[in-house]
Amino acid sequence: MELLELIQTLNAAHGPSGDEGGIRERLAELARPLADEISTDTMGNLIVRKLGSGPRVMLCAHMDSIGFIVTHVEENGFLRVGRLGGISPKEAAYTPVRFAGGARGVIVPEEKADFGKLKLDECYVDIGAKDRETALKAVAVGDTMIYDSPCFTNQGKVVSPYLDNRISCAILLKVLEEMELCPNDLYVVFTVQEEVGLRGAKPAAWAVDPDYAVVVDVTDVDDTPGSEKCGTVRLGKGPAIKIMDSSVICHPDMIQKLESQAKTLDMPTQRDIMRAGGTDAGVMHTTRIGVRTGGVSVPCRYIHTPVEMADLQDARDCAKLLCAFVQSKLESL
Ligand SMILES: [Zn+2]
Repeated sequence: MELLELIQTLNAAHGPSGDEGGIRERLAELARPLADEISTDTMGNLIVRKLGSGPRVMLCAHMDSIGFIVTHVEENGFLRVGRLGGISPKEAAYTPVRFAGGARGVIVPEEKADFGKLKLDECYVDIGAKDRETALKAVAVGDTMIYDSPCFTNQGKVVSPYLDNRISCAILLKVLEEMELCPNDLYVVFTVQEEVGLRGAKPAAWAVDPDYAVVVDVTDVDDTPGSEKCGTVRLGKGPAIKIMDSSVICHPDMIQKLESQAKTLDMPTQRDIMRAGGTDAGVMHTTRIGVRTGGVSVPCRYIHTPVEMADLQDARDCAKLLCAFVQSKLESL
């Protein structure tokens, strides 16, 4: 499947943190024909294995997205929600949303709210229900809700909610599809609950006990008007090799391996430092006696808004680079 089609297929699935059943099922369907072994652990992480005689290599991308959870259904049929992960109410306001069960609605700020300092508690969700009883036929307290904004392409860019981190899940599926040799014992892990605190990756890394790990996620850019320079990379300038984020300082050996692999492929890359925000790499590199951990990041604008934007060629190159890395001969540790 082409990368864009994969992103669209994955984005049609439901999978906010803690409620990843829908996205996991979709990923499992797509990965099963490409796997030697496939399993789900207690947390809900999907672990896809390709057998090889070399060291254990773990590629990891979180499958969960940010989202909302219904906390109250009011007498007049409006809903109140809590956040799953890093949601900014200002960015969420007036965005269409959908529930796994099919209900749809929109997030609306109360009229008296100060938009500049908008809190999520000052927003309600309008699903059009005429009263509480009608609303409860469509949704229940504890149901999760996600953005329902469109996915489109223009100028080689893709705009969609949840490129964080469905674009990386699509990249890992491309690696599985395109690799021809498997000299290493490869585990491709789609983790859960990253957005609420890197919770799934920790037990997954403990179980796999990898020699080498690479985390694939989106990263912040420094290429838009008035950029606050949280990130160091630009869209369209190639895969970003992670140097550090607020959760990890990558192992120098991994940075060297990924950069030299890119050089062999004659592929431009950028060095990625994200000054705020962490990734699954944060909990993986301190697992057991420590894991050599690196990261390949997809430069992405407007992260965690309903209109994230990435460059499709960057994403294709990320897949190509990872494919070369997992097929390279790695020394046993
Ligand atoms: Zn992410």
